[in-house]
Amino acid sequence: MAIGVKVMRRPTTGVSYVRATLKGMALTFKHLRQSKVTMEYPEEKSKDDWAISRRWRGTHRMLTDAEGRSKCVACGLCPQVCPANCIKLVPGEDEHGHRYPLIYEIDEFRCVFCGYCQEVCPEEAIHVGVHFENAEYERARFVYDLERLQSQTHPVSTLWDPSDPKGE
Ligand code: SF4
Ligand code: SF4
Repeated sequence: MAIGVKVMRRPTTGVSYVRATLKGMALTFKHLRQSKVTMEYPEEKSKDDWAISRRWRGTHRMLTDAEGRSKCVACGLCPQVCPANCIKLVPGEDEHGHRYPLIYEIDEFRCVFCGYCQEVCPEEAIHVGVHFENAEYERARFVYDLERLQSQTHPVSTLWDPSDPKGE
């Protein structure tokens, strides 16, 4: 495609800026009458218009079974697939040969929220969540242990669905 060059010439006669000024002011007044598109976060939130997508990948949650135990069977897939290497898993086994996590930790500070851990989990135990308000005063508080992961109550992410690419 040929690239065209538009040459702008300086005006040679006197130019009045009144018209441009009035146009600018009209535009300003037009916007003054319109409804606000901002809000006073964090006092204002949870408006329907501002609800975050159900595909949002935020703070993790570990789901539990009917007895309140972690659904994780310590298969080791999520630490294996994690690109940020931020999942620490120490597997254990009970007297019946059932595997469970002795230690399961996620460093939310190193996590890149790719959602691979949720996608790969065969037990649908670990999930990224629809939640982002996880600010802390100390670095160490970003390492979520199993108990803390299990105590999260926010909704879990639906991730990207190829049959519904726009999430509608
Ligand atoms: S979301 Fe991605 S980076 Fe974060 S813990 Fe899971 S696999 Fe690792
Ligand atoms: S992939 Fe699921 S079952 Fe396997 S270690 Fe991770 S959370 Fe546990």
